[in-house]
Amino acid sequence: MTGSLPRADGFAAAATGRSTRRRIVRSVVNLVQERLGASSMAEQVLRTIGPVVLLGPPGAGKGTQSKGITEHYHIPQVSTGDLLREHVKQQTPLGVQVQAVIARGELVPDNLVCDIVAWRLRQPDADRGFVLDGFPRTQKQAAWLDSFLKFEFFDSGKWASWLPIVIRIEVDYNKLLLRITGRRTCPICGSIYNVHSKPPLVDEICDKDGAKLVIREDDRDEVIRERLDTYEHQTKPVAEYYMALGRLVTVDGDQSPEAVSASILKEIDSHACDRVQRNQAKGT
Ligand code: AMP
Repeated sequence: MTGSLPRADGFAAAATGRSTRRRIVRSVVNLVQERLGASSMAEQVLRTIGPVVLLGPPGAGKGTQSKGITEHYHIPQVSTGDLLREHVKQQTPLGVQVQAVIARGELVPDNLVCDIVAWRLRQPDADRGFVLDGFPRTQKQAAWLDSFLKFEFFDSGKWASWLPIVIRIEVDYNKLLLRITGRRTCPICGSIYNVHSKPPLVDEICDKDGAKLVIREDDRDEVIRERLDTYEHQTKPVAEYYMALGRLVTVDGDQSPEAVSASILKEIDSHACDRVQRNQAKGT
């Protein structure tokens, strides 16, 4: 996502992306079969992906990577930023309450965000698993998530295991700034572009539906530093919380999006294999 690719290369990159994806799918199947020795087991792994948490500063590519995970495993992306922006757009009572906080780049109070997440994770499409993008962002949210998952999914017998895989995407600070300032979003379909590294075919217009692309209110220069500061002070301790529990996996986010995606899928598969193997050992 960094550097500036000429547009003609965009097509080559897309083709490379497709063949990389095919290679990834093959390697995933191989890994699963190697580790578990049977295709029915591979199916079991794919059925129980469970919770995936993506951590990283604004601009690390969490949104892009979440969409990739969603397509790959057919589990929903749960982005607290998107859910909150939707409330603001609809001007719900919650949206009106949090509008100014979001515009300043500060964090919405924990109890409000946790309520939205609880509501979203109870929807039936989250039964096989989900990708949390932008949550948890404070230690309190992380502790709340652990008890929520245990209570709702494990104690209720829905899942044999509830521990999320937590993946941190690490990116160089200056590259982050470039990514955020170049980010453009389609207000209709949510596609994400970047004027430096992934421009649309026609300037400022969405390739998919022709809508005029927008800069997110909180991607404006004056708000970006506040968001990065907030991340540094409040969200970094979340990574430390998971690290202390031995549950943090770090992926190098300075690689190409395809390479980041390959690393992430490999980690998720490996985690899912471990879980199936542990459950087999326990006889569940
Ligand atoms: P994002 O799109 O994830 O960067 O989120 C945009 C904004 O929504 C953030 O700058 C916060 O104001 C708010 N927000 C999103 N997720 C959370 C969260 N987990 N806790 C508190 N505020 C959040």
